[in-house]
Amino acid sequence: MKKILFFIILFSLNSSFSQKKFAQLDHEFPTANEYRTASGAPGHKYYQQKADYKMSIVIDDKTQKLSGNEVITYTNNSPDILTYLWLQLDQNLFADTSDSKKIEIEKMEDFKSAGDIRKKMFYYDGGFKIESITTIGGQKMKYFVNKTMMRIDLDKPLLPGTSISFQIKWWYNINDRMAVGGRSGYEYFEKDDNYLYTVAQFFPRMCVYNDVTGWQNKQFLGRGEFTLPFGDYEVSITVPADHIVGATGECQNYRTVLTAEQLKRYELAKKSTQPVLIVTPSDAEKAEKEKSSKTKTWVYKAYNVRDFAFATSRKFIWDAQIQPVGSKNVLCMSYYPKEGNPLWEKYSTKLVAHTIKTYSKFTTDYTYPVAISVHSKWIGMEYPMICFNGGRPEPDGTYSEGEKYGMWGVIIHEVGHNFFPMIINSDERQWTWMDEGLNTFVQYLTEQEWERGYPSRRGPAHMIADYMRGDKKFISPIMTNSESIFQFGNNAYGKPATALNILRETVMGRELFDFAFKTYCERWKFKHPTPADFFRTMEDASAVDLDWFWRGWFYGTDNVDIAIDDIKRFQLNT
Ligand SMILES: [Zn+2]
Repeated sequence: MKKILFFIILFSLNSSFSQKKFAQLDHEFPTANEYRTASGAPGHKYYQQKADYKMSIVIDDKTQKLSGNEVITYTNNSPDILTYLWLQLDQNLFADTSDSKKIEIEKMEDFKSAGDIRKKMFYYDGGFKIESITTIGGQKMKYFVNKTMMRIDLDKPLLPGTSISFQIKWWYNINDRMAVGGRSGYEYFEKDDNYLYTVAQFFPRMCVYNDVTGWQNKQFLGRGEFTLPFGDYEVSITVPADHIVGATGECQNYRTVLTAEQLKRYELAKKSTQPVLIVTPSDAEKAEKEKSSKTKTWVYKAYNVRDFAFATSRKFIWDAQIQPVGSKNVLCMSYYPKEGNPLWEKYSTKLVAHTIKTYSKFTTDYTYPVAISVHSKWIGMEYPMICFNGGRPEPDGTYSEGEKYGMWGVIIHEVGHNFFPMIINSDERQWTWMDEGLNTFVQYLTEQEWERGYPSRRGPAHMIADYMRGDKKFISPIMTNSESIFQFGNNAYGKPATALNILRETVMGRELFDFAFKTYCERWKFKHPTPADFFRTMEDASAVDLDWFWRGWFYGTDNVDIAIDDIKRFQLNT
């Protein structure tokens, strides 16, 4: 006879467990309609507006001033009659009237050094100076500026299916990014007395009008990013003659702006799967010293993009290689000052190519012709086809492992934003997680494919546990407006990335998850998805009821908290 002992351990979930946690999301999701279906796909009457831009931009390198002249053609594809249009004036974030100044919180800790105080006291005359808004015929149009938003009142309503063109002239002082911060601006290099400009949010841009928000004209406070319609761009950029420009889209006149030698190297790069230098370090150093007083105009065209950005400097070294995606070759490029080396010449363009390839596998094929990474100290910021990334070695060229992984991570992340939200064009002003969370998830997959055992900051479950079991007073659900989020990074980047990782590895399995995730990307590429479109598509394409998962992870702040309730001892006689 043997005696076998059994212990039964009874677990209980410590949070107040109830049926409600598994209730369907019928009340949380909007009612499906002909614009957005219950399957999560665009409906048969889905529409989106179009905004086309023709712009001439001049950068004055002596005064760091940008002047612009644009013709916007806005097409009303909605079934609604529009009596006014809303545009975004993002530079007004820096104007005295901006709400962002009123909501700033200042603590004693912010004034620890003379440098901190100098930064706080730094005055900068920012904001758009609108010179004129006229019809194509030259007639003045009525407009009203409300901080970072501008309403243009139309003489005649804009009917469904019709377009309107109008012209805006403006200028502004470009911000010193090192002194006042910002997503764009300039960096001054005292040693050689040169500027490096990363230019974005530099023109009055159309707001989105759609079936979900009407006009999306929530003020820009600096955190909730941008909501923009697709359109075609034709932009000419006038800069000092020795500057090198990188921009959204394809340059139309390399023949007139590059030297014969640079043009030859560019043609070589278009056939190479390894980076080829188009502007060498010695070219750049020569330009740094000579400082041309002439100007040149670079002309760019970009189709079906939601925005336009560019970078310009005489300090730029420039390299490029191709990355095949589907039947096309994407030209992957990097622009960086010598201060970025040796990190930048070694890794940047290869990381761009790897990111484009890997994201195309998990989401949808990258169909834009170029993908660019520009070195810009401290920040990481994304635009269609171009992004500005930190990662600067010490002045003697040495760098830590932390600096290297930081640079790798930021390049993968910002290039990854080409997919979320540049192609899968969600409303960033409303939902940060829809681009940051989904992007951080694919960033994690891309990092792991770049290097086995890559020390990813976000994605693995153990990295988010401390946040999720933290004080609930300072945790908001992922489904929270961008401006109202506590602990921004954990809420909008880390937690959704972890949630999708768990869905893929544990709840759904890779095969079901990858198919459903790709279905979402294919359905909503070059369109404007909402959270419900994502949640519904993931269920529609997989036959897995995930309402409980979305409720727990995206609509709530619960964490798993398992405790031992009781242990019972049994004895079996055999
Ligand atoms: Zn991001």
